[in-house]
Amino acid sequence: MALDRRQFFGMGLAAGAAALAPRWARGQGAQLPDRVLQGREAALKTPITTTKLYDNVYLLQGAGGNMALQTGKEGLVLVDSSFSTSVPKVKDAIAAVSKDPADALINTHWHYDHTDGNEGMRAAGFTIFAHQKTRERMATPQTITFFKLVMPPSPEAALPTITFSDTMRAWHNGDSLFLAHFDPAHTDTDIYVHFEKANVLHVGDTWFNGFYPFIDEATGGRIGGMIDASKKALEIADKDTKIIPGHGPLGTKADLQRYHDMLTAVRDKVAALKASGVSEQDAVAKKPTAEFDPTWGKGMFNGDVFTGLVYRTI
Ligand SMILES: [Zn+2]
Ligand SMILES: [Zn+2]
Repeated sequence: MALDRRQFFGMGLAAGAAALAPRWARGQGAQLPDRVLQGREAALKTPITTTKLYDNVYLLQGAGGNMALQTGKEGLVLVDSSFSTSVPKVKDAIAAVSKDPADALINTHWHYDHTDGNEGMRAAGFTIFAHQKTRERMATPQTITFFKLVMPPSPEAALPTITFSDTMRAWHNGDSLFLAHFDPAHTDTDIYVHFEKANVLHVGDTWFNGFYPFIDEATGGRIGGMIDASKKALEIADKDTKIIPGHGPLGTKADLQRYHDMLTAVRDKVAALKASGVSEQDAVAKKPTAEFDPTWGKGMFNGDVFTGLVYRTI
């Protein structure tokens, strides 16, 4: 699947698109940053694609973060909810593969491109699970400094109602689901969801498959945690594991290993510069990511921007 920049935080839309969003799509629009509204607008036009990963596990991809779906008589499990405006399309995608009742929605972290659909999915019968910090951050104003985004609290109906602090296991639809918190990586709210029998692992935004990732330095993200999270996922995965990144195409352990190695190499180079007293601006000018840019710098961030993220979060 080719990378579509709009898949992350609604990149690439004409200014003013938000003003064209239908009233129902705006919700708390008066308070929401344009970037969120632009993401919702993009989601209105973005179809959901469905990929079968196992007998009863699917990958759903649209405008927001990648979603996983488990079907079965005990009820549907959905991982992440994309944008509010994606909800009707996600419901249609689910209906195309299953008539099972709604049960659980699991959020991989607090960011709106993974949680904006929560309210709609809850209205459809899903109970929302997440790490406790995801609820805390969604319930209070947040600033994503990098994008100059000031996020108001989410509506009560969008908040996870069952939270955990470390790990959680659920036996459901014949599989064992293991949920665990990563140490601060992309944010301080990140978890992974492992469908152990199906051998499907959703690692949220700790992995952007094929391009430099975003690290949300304002809500606990740090490069060392990103490296540790990918290392943890590599320990869990085997050669047959289907690994779902937060953004980008479905991946394998080998793909994740390449990403981990890139992150580590960039971190080491930037850390050496920082330790020798080089300023952020000068570190960027030295192009420490140059050898990786042709492969990884064609997504949302070029090497210069990523170098800055790494420098600030070492
Ligand atoms: Zn995301
Ligand atoms: Zn994110």
